[in-house]
Amino acid sequence: MALEDVYRRNLHHRTHRAGWLRAAVLGANDGLVSTASLMIGVSAAKAGGVDAQAFLITAGAAGIAAGAMSMAVGEYVSVRSQNDIEESDRVLEMQHLAIDPESELIELQHIYIERGLTPELAIQVAKAMHDRDPLEAHLRDELGQFPHTKARPVQAAMASAAAFTAG
Ligand SMILES: [Zn+2]
Repeated sequence: MALEDVYRRNLHHRTHRAGWLRAAVLGANDGLVSTASLMIGVSAAKAGGVDAQAFLITAGAAGIAAGAMSMAVGEYVSVRSQNDIEESDRVLEMQHLAIDPESELIELQHIYIERGLTPELAIQVAKAMHDRDPLEAHLRDELGQFPHTKARPVQAAMASAAAFTAG
């Protein structure tokens, strides 16, 4: 398989088209959650029949709650969808390795060449990586996935909500 084919096939990894999709999902999500939360908060204040000052305070509190909710949900969705994409990339990579390990080896060699190794050294390194753990090598060097940097959605959501409220 020619190098161009390896590259073209590589475009099927979902990581590459994740950017705009995530932004779109997040934008829609943010608008929905913050508006709905604010409306619920303000309608609760009106239903209580409160005076102007209390209404202002309630509206402010509703705004904080709405923003924090929106940030938390947005962050959760963002991290979750990122993890989903990484997971599907992982499955795809396993399939590639099972179907065509030779092309995967050349792909890895080319990645190392791009990082400054000579072709001879690059193929040596690629072979050593394939002998040890091909999947790990491809996830790390091709897709930039590191197990210890995997984000946790609930933690991210809480941090985001807390930061918004503190602000
Ligand atoms: Zn690969």
